[in-house]
Amino acid sequence: MKLKLYNTLTREKEEFIPLMEDPNYKWEKKDFVWMYSCWPTVYYTPHIGNLRASFSADLIRNTLKYFWYPVKAVMNITDVWHLVSDADDWEDKLEKWAKRDGISAWEVAKRYEEIFMRGLEDMNIEKFDVMPRATEHIKEQIELVKLLEEKGYTYEVPWDWIYMDTSKVDDYWKLIWPNYKKRLEELKAWERVDMKGKKNATDFALWKFSMVKGKREMERDSPWWVGFPWWHIECSAMSSKYLGEQFDIHHWGSDHITIHHPNEIAQAECWFGKKPRVKYWIHNEFLQVDWGKMSKSLWNFYSLEDIKARGYSPLDLRYFYFKAQYWNFQNFTWEALDQAKSERKGLIKKINSILESNEEGENINWKEKFQEALADNINTPKLLSELHIALAKWWKYAIDAIKELEDKILKIGLFAWELSEENQVPEDIIVLAEERKKAKSEKNYALADEIREKIKDKWWLVKDNKEWYELQKI
Ligand SMILES: [Zn+2]
Repeated sequence: MKLKLYNTLTREKEEFIPLMEDPNYKWEKKDFVWMYSCWPTVYYTPHIGNLRASFSADLIRNTLKYFWYPVKAVMNITDVWHLVSDADDWEDKLEKWAKRDGISAWEVAKRYEEIFMRGLEDMNIEKFDVMPRATEHIKEQIELVKLLEEKGYTYEVPWDWIYMDTSKVDDYWKLIWPNYKKRLEELKAWERVDMKGKKNATDFALWKFSMVKGKREMERDSPWWVGFPWWHIECSAMSSKYLGEQFDIHHWGSDHITIHHPNEIAQAECWFGKKPRVKYWIHNEFLQVDWGKMSKSLWNFYSLEDIKARGYSPLDLRYFYFKAQYWNFQNFTWEALDQAKSERKGLIKKINSILESNEEGENINWKEKFQEALADNINTPKLLSELHIALAKWWKYAIDAIKELEDKILKIGLFAWELSEENQVPEDIIVLAEERKKAKSEKNYALADEIREKIKDKWWLVKDNKEWYELQKI
C-alpha cells in the first residue's frame, strides 16, 4: 500500500518516495528517512496548540514506521534569542521573562525545556532521535552566515544587521505561492512602517549586532561584531548538521509557511546549490478554542496542567487530537474533550470485554484497513472509525492488529485496566463486582442484587450497561 502525504511545496497529495528509494536522487547515501520539526521557543509553558504540533511530529514519525520505513526524527530546541515580535524588535523574550522571574535567561530556557519534555512524556510522545539546542550550535550558524557572505548573498546594515538578499533567490516564493498576494500586502504594510535598512521587504536577518557589548546575557563574538544569530538560521544549521544537505521531510505548524520556512529553504539552497532542500514539506493546522484564536487575554490559553487539573488524563487529549486530521483546523471545547474522554474509556472497556470473550468474529486483515486510513495523508478520523468498527463487532481477530496499532500509533492506554487514578477501584470492590457479573450470567438475579447491596454498603455504585458495568464512588 502506498503512503500519500500532502506536500505544501507541490500542493499535492503525493506518493511518499523517500530519498533512499528515489531514482532521481544521486547524492550522499541515505540509510534512514530523515525528518525535522521546528519546536516552540522555550519561554513559556506550552499550550495545547503547541502540543498538537508535537503530537503531529510524533504521528508522522510513527506512521512512517508503521509503513516499515526506518526513520530518524530531529526536533530542535530553540533556547535562545527570540525577539518579542516579528517586527525585528530589540528585546529578547527569554531575557524579558528572566527579568520577570528574577533568574537568568539560561535558567528560564532550562525550566521551560523541562516542562516541555515532561509534557511530551505525559502525552506518550517518545523523545526524538536528536534534540539539538540552538545555543550549542552557534559555531555552525556563524559558519553558514560566512558561507552565504562568501557567495555574495548577504549585505550589512552597519552596526545593526546582516541580511540575506532575497532578490538573488529567484524562486523565493515557491513555498508561499498560493498565498503570495496576501503576503505581499503584509510586506507592503511593513514597508510603510519601517524597513530597518532592508533592500527588499522579504530580506531577512542572519545576524544581529549588539550595539553595546555586554548589554545582553545571550550574545556571542563573531567575525563581524558581538551579537546573536537570527532565528531562521538555527534550524538550517542544525538540520544541515544532522540530516545533510538534502532530506526527506520538514514539518511544523502552518504559520511557518510564509516566513520561516521559505527563509530556511533560501539559505540552504544557496549554500549547497542543491534543490529541493527538502522533498516533502508537511504543515499541521492550528488548534482553535471555541472556533477562535487562543489568546491569553481571552482566558482560553490552556496548558496540559489545566487539562489535568480538570480531571482529564493527558491521553484523553491525545485521543482528542486523533479526531481531526493534522492538516485541518481542530476546535477545542471542554465538551469535545469530555466526549473524547468517554470514547476512550468506552474503547478500553470494550477491549477488556473482548479479551474475556470467546467470540472470534470474521477474519479480516485489520492492519490493512488501518494502513489504508493512514495512507490517505494520515487520515486519523478514518482510522478511529475503522477501530470502532473492528471493536463493535466483537471481532477477536482484530485484537492483534489493534494491539500493534496501539503500540505503534495510538498510545492511548487502550490495554490498560486502570482508566485513571480518580477512577481506581479498590480490589475488594472489583472482586464483588466480578462475583455479581458471574451471578448475573448464571441468571441468579437474587444473588446479584444481594452483592449490589454489599457494594453499596462500601460506598460504591454498580451501574450496568449493555456489555459491561461501571463502578462509581458514592
Ligand atoms: Zn524551523
